[in-house]
Amino acid sequence: MKKTNLLQTAITLLVIALIPCLPVTGQSDESVIHPKDHFGFTPGDDRMLFDYSALIGYMKLLDEANPKLKMVEIGKSPMGKPMYIAFISSAGNIEKLDELREINRELALNPSIPEAEKKRMIEEGKVFVLGTLSMHSGEVGPAQAAPLIAYELVTSKDPKILQWMDQVVYMMVPNHNPDGMDFIVNNYKKYKGTKYEGASLPRVYHKYVGHDNNRDFVILTQDDNRAIARIYNLEWFPQVMVEKHQMGSTGIRYFVPPVHDPIAENVDAEIFNWTAVFGANMIRDMTNEGLAGVGQHTIFDMYWPGSTETCLWKNVIGMLTECASAKDATPIFVEPNELSVGGKGLSEYKKSINMPLPWEGGWWRLGDIVQYEITSTLSILKTASLHREEILTFRNDLCRKEVSKGESVPPFYYVIPGQQRDLFELVNLVNLMKEHGVEVYRLKESFTLSGKNFEPGDVVIPLAQPFRPFIKEVLEPQEYPVRHYTPGGEVVKPYDIASWSLPLHRGITSFEMKERNEEFEGLLEKIEGEFTLTQGDPGNFWAAIFTATNNGSFNAAFIAAKRGMKVERMDQAISLGGIEYPKGSFIMYGEGKGREQVNALSKELKFSPAFIKEEWKLKTIPFAVPRIALVETYFHDMDAGWTRYIFDTYQIPFTVLHPDQFDKTDFVKSFDVVIFPSTDKSVLMTGKRQAGDDYYMGNYHPDYVKGMGKKGMDNMMTFLDNGGIIVAWGSSAALFEGTLEIPRGDKKEEFQLPFRDISSSLQRSGLYVAGSLLEVDINADHPLTYGMPEKAGIYFGRNTVFSTSVPRFDTDRRVIAKFPEKDILLSGYSENQELLGNKSAMIWLKKGKGQLVLFGFNPQFRASTQGSYKLLFNSLLLPKIN
Ligand SMILES: [Zn+2]
Repeated sequence: MKKTNLLQTAITLLVIALIPCLPVTGQSDESVIHPKDHFGFTPGDDRMLFDYSALIGYMKLLDEANPKLKMVEIGKSPMGKPMYIAFISSAGNIEKLDELREINRELALNPSIPEAEKKRMIEEGKVFVLGTLSMHSGEVGPAQAAPLIAYELVTSKDPKILQWMDQVVYMMVPNHNPDGMDFIVNNYKKYKGTKYEGASLPRVYHKYVGHDNNRDFVILTQDDNRAIARIYNLEWFPQVMVEKHQMGSTGIRYFVPPVHDPIAENVDAEIFNWTAVFGANMIRDMTNEGLAGVGQHTIFDMYWPGSTETCLWKNVIGMLTECASAKDATPIFVEPNELSVGGKGLSEYKKSINMPLPWEGGWWRLGDIVQYEITSTLSILKTASLHREEILTFRNDLCRKEVSKGESVPPFYYVIPGQQRDLFELVNLVNLMKEHGVEVYRLKESFTLSGKNFEPGDVVIPLAQPFRPFIKEVLEPQEYPVRHYTPGGEVVKPYDIASWSLPLHRGITSFEMKERNEEFEGLLEKIEGEFTLTQGDPGNFWAAIFTATNNGSFNAAFIAAKRGMKVERMDQAISLGGIEYPKGSFIMYGEGKGREQVNALSKELKFSPAFIKEEWKLKTIPFAVPRIALVETYFHDMDAGWTRYIFDTYQIPFTVLHPDQFDKTDFVKSFDVVIFPSTDKSVLMTGKRQAGDDYYMGNYHPDYVKGMGKKGMDNMMTFLDNGGIIVAWGSSAALFEGTLEIPRGDKKEEFQLPFRDISSSLQRSGLYVAGSLLEVDINADHPLTYGMPEKAGIYFGRNTVFSTSVPRFDTDRRVIAKFPEKDILLSGYSENQELLGNKSAMIWLKKGKGQLVLFGFNPQFRASTQGSYKLLFNSLLLPKIN
């Protein structure tokens, strides 16, 4: 107890000692309102948080009152809130932002600036430092610190700060995730002052994807992320970028770069060296101010793109900082024995080269986080100013180096044939690459290169571009950079996933070309503007076929149904103009308004269907939009969130159902299909995670710690018994393993479905797959696989693998997708992949008239596995058993 008090006193003294560093007492410009007067409290005060509109309101006041800050709107959040960059620099720099932006663009993208011109640009240019704050909304500190940092920078008379801001333009995104910020702040206020103060938000802190918003920077699906990515891909070309996060409460206090191994093979060595320069200055400046517990070379690695730092692959010195968390704004007391580290870079919580000044424990408050944020941010600005000339020179050097590599080191081009099974995904891929600031070309004439014939319209992406690292990274298959902790010892396991190859994940054929040919290059024409494969008005037609091989055809069908158009599915395959249109393709008709409506649809979706001019006798089945229940738990259910995102994008209507609503839901009356994204079985049943013989109690208000319970499960089994369709993937498949019951009045019918999950026994035998793309063989003769190729890539991590058995009574099973005998890994990292040989990845099950579709893998993983989307869409449209 005594020690605790001493520690508490020591920390309080430390905090008091630090107060002079806060802008509160700094010499200030009196025309500018201090954050305390705007918010009614000093940001960082215990148990106080402001929301997004208050934050932006304050930044706008600064913009009006002071020439050193300028707010620029950069887009909208997924829920429609405007997003901004606050440019902060000297008044002179703010005045000529457009001019400075042009210098940035030239240095970033032009490998052949005349020497004198380059010299002038480097003399006149400024280092642009992009800071994105609190994209993870529960990590409140960075955004709460933003007003104090902005105030300090625009009002300070400190000659050092004035000098930094003359050399640097700080591009502060005051909050990267406005929707999530408001969810979190409102939730905190709701429980503040009750015993549940600090309870977790009972949903994802984003419209759709929650924490996975920082996994989206290759595929750019979310509006807020697209706004941020545009900053460095297309518009402002900052040379330095930092994303500001928080982590757990009981480890190091603050993480600064450099990261731990592994690091990306395609990113230039000097980028990592620069991050180390920034990190070294941060740890020095922070320690110098008495901020203990700063660590580096630990926890985080940097080999996968997907976070905001994907700008590393675009030659930006990209970094991440992470501060220890309090309980939102509520202080916590950390007992020294609770402090621990473990893993990459730090094996003991002790003084070490990666953490030279450990924090000793005690009170940890939002005010501490705010102080660490202020100091680390000022340090970054200082470092950028100290190295202004070198950083600007480096940026153009790297541009030249990457372009020259693209001209001299294979591969030289990626060629993506214009003829693909899935033209919708080809269109999306090309437009995505353009959104990444990559130049994409079209081949004008047939050409044979390295013995391969390419046709006019084939898409070519040359590597001789400034963003070469990114192009190569996302178009090649991934090979994990295996590093060991000790020679021959344990492999350093990936922090996140190990595969992101855009063509492979989308089921798109592409070729990596290792021969350079100038004649070939002469036949390339740059694709300007939006890429589309829509052809002109086809004239009159009897029917339009939207092939089932095309993801966009499913999209077309759902949109058409919503617009009241007549849609059917072909119950036979046909051949038309030498192209096969498989069973399950969608038919829309040209009569009446049909022609106009089909043309509109094909324009919107950027590809054209095939047309049948005269009436044919076609075997068709009706297409009806099913009534879908999508199960989402209260517990930051990102997989359900991604599913909502995909359904909204494809305009597939659904109703979200929480497990605790099951006992009151009449499924038979209300739904055709119930979907379970991947969730732990015990979470679905009880709202709690099983931990051995006990449950792990989370941090949620008891109102939300509820599951389906027995009654809910009974209702669902009644639904199955009445011909309902259940679709489940990943961990959720476990709900249906073992003995199940269908209630029958006072009695019940017990039964077992003919399958088992064998993944744990495979893991015990040494199977390890780190979020990778694996190949499966597809059972071609099944309504679940309409439009699928014979072999497809599926995304597989620590997922479920099935075995089936001979069925009893009115049950049945079919294997829909199985792993091949060998060569299973397409992209990523695995150990002992052969253990998966011939095992089942996806199965169909039947009980009476009820059907279940179980995926071992997530067919829609983070909206980045378009090659397996059709398996999910077909599940929604599975014909009922009569
Ligand atoms: Zn975070």
